[in-house]
Amino acid sequence: MSSLVKTRFAPSPTGYLHVGGARTALYSWLFARKNADNGKFILRIEDTDQVRSTAESAAGILSDLQWLGLNWDEGPVVGGAKNEYFQSMRLDLYNKHLAELLAKGLAYEAYESTAQLTAMRQAAEKEKRAFRYRRDMPGRQLAAQEGVKPVVRFAMPYKDITVNDLILGNVTVTGSEHDDIVIRKSDGFPTYHFAVVVDDHYMCITHVLRAQEHFMNTFKHIGLYEALGWLPPQHGHLPLVVNADNSKMSKREKAKAVRAEIQKAGIKDFTDLAAKSGLGLKDLQDFMAKKTDAVEFAVKLAPLLGPVSSGGLKLPEIDVQDFRRSGYLPEALLNFVALVGWAPGGDREIVSSQELLDLFSLDGIQKTPGRFDRKKLAWMNGEYIRKASLDRLLEVLEQFNAVTDYPIKKADRSVQREILTMYQERMVTLAEMAENARFFFEEPTMDPKAVEKFITKNDGRTFLQSAQAILSAVGGPWSKDNIAAPLEQVLALGEKRGAAAQPIRVAISGNSVTPPLLETLALLGRETTLVRMAKALAM
Ligand code: GLU
Repeated sequence: MSSLVKTRFAPSPTGYLHVGGARTALYSWLFARKNADNGKFILRIEDTDQVRSTAESAAGILSDLQWLGLNWDEGPVVGGAKNEYFQSMRLDLYNKHLAELLAKGLAYEAYESTAQLTAMRQAAEKEKRAFRYRRDMPGRQLAAQEGVKPVVRFAMPYKDITVNDLILGNVTVTGSEHDDIVIRKSDGFPTYHFAVVVDDHYMCITHVLRAQEHFMNTFKHIGLYEALGWLPPQHGHLPLVVNADNSKMSKREKAKAVRAEIQKAGIKDFTDLAAKSGLGLKDLQDFMAKKTDAVEFAVKLAPLLGPVSSGGLKLPEIDVQDFRRSGYLPEALLNFVALVGWAPGGDREIVSSQELLDLFSLDGIQKTPGRFDRKKLAWMNGEYIRKASLDRLLEVLEQFNAVTDYPIKKADRSVQREILTMYQERMVTLAEMAENARFFFEEPTMDPKAVEKFITKNDGRTFLQSAQAILSAVGGPWSKDNIAAPLEQVLALGEKRGAAAQPIRVAISGNSVTPPLLETLALLGRETTLVRMAKALAM
């Protein structure tokens, strides 16, 4: 029997779940789940940052993990004492161990004000040396000051510390490179460094898999484990997730995309845009001057830019929420994300969750950044859609509808089923399908180029007139069976089938790409079909 493996995912609820975070969660989940009965996966919410943490963000992270199917054995919602998995509810425990370190002289109060610390940092910079706060350094503030709440710092040992990282290997930081980190902030809350050590210990975590940006923190954490007399878990640091151009995949990209679009449109006076978006002029000016990359600003501006009639500028997907709203399948996103920085061996790309469990091992994780290739994700999503059963597609459509507002949301299940059947072979994402299928529910937006090419020029009108005459004579109910033959008759009028089909497509949907015509007309209904043809003829 293998020994117990306990992993955890420990997000800070300061925003939505980034796909990079989802990958950390996935690897931790896979590593635990591989160990069948002996593996446990824990979810812990690290909300010690009083200012930036929000309940809304925590709820969003939970919902995204659930959507991805990354279930946890212990954590919020699961089990009885769910609050235990929010760090803000564990202050007594942290304080107990802080007191212990203080009593042993392994931690101490520090009294500098923010301004004093800044000055010390600047002085070090001027002398071209790294600023390291150490208890024996000259110039420390040795007594409490009025109006400055002390922090508690950890007396980091003056010795070399080696981390045996499961992915990066052995790395040593020498004693002279450490600093005495803050472990209790002036607001009385522990810092991340302290809480993470206490919690990983108390939650009996055996393996910590987390982002590479935390690697250098691990040395501090090892120091703390030693001081507290605990054995550290094993650590493995995961490669960064980068864009195709190697830039970091960050929330900033939404702001970047919006700025680029505003520049492209040549907008120099922002008054109008500010008014329409509901942003203050000053905020918008700051945004354009790159003083802020606020995602909320980008989200407000995007609908006013780009192809406004179909929802405006599409922002790059960064968070799991974004991919949900774009209509990616959770199984496709998981498969894709698993391969960003890990390879199962061979050229395999489509790997089911079960196969991931069978194949996953830390050996396959690369040290260098993993590339997030959006084209590959889109391809993969299409593959998953084609393979999915209709029942599964209906299920994911329901989840998609819960976070979006396309007209298909209000359609009957039977209609949704028919639309999914029509688009299954051709869609890349559910959002693309929902957008293209708008014409079933609302008046189509006519694409002027398509109208000109297929209706007003060439023989469009002639075909449309014949189609109208033939189809309005269909007897009995407007069903596929009853319209199949008349439609064939219409299509046979053109030298090529497309010649007669295209004007009909444009008339009913606004452009020349639709699902198969017979199914489309049947679903659209007699009246809508004929009215739209009449309208097109009048153009
Ligand atoms: N709360 C930390 C973060 O979100 C977790 C780091 C860790 O896993 O230790 O980055």
